[in-house]
Amino acid sequence: MKWFGTDWGAPVCRDEQHVPTPVGIGCYVCGKPIGAHDRGLVFPFHGEPTDPPELSTHLRCFGRSVGLDLPRPEHVPPRNEHER
Ligand SMILES: [Zn+2]
Repeated sequence: MKWFGTDWGAPVCRDEQHVPTPVGIGCYVCGKPIGAHDRGLVFPFHGEPTDPPELSTHLRCFGRSVGLDLPRPEHVPPRNEHER
């Protein structure tokens, strides 16, 4: 797993590789393009030969996809609709 955007204090941000934000790539959960100021995760994907080698998702879309509605610190306002 890799991550992009600003550090949100999770272990993944310490232990895993930080990569450039994949701007314009469709989030695999919501399908909307990832923006320059989004945060999220990148997973290796072992699908068909024609499938992309990695899948990217907004942080909050990932949280919802695994049944977590990640709490937001009071001092961090939502930056876009994907983070509410
Ligand atoms: Zn998304």
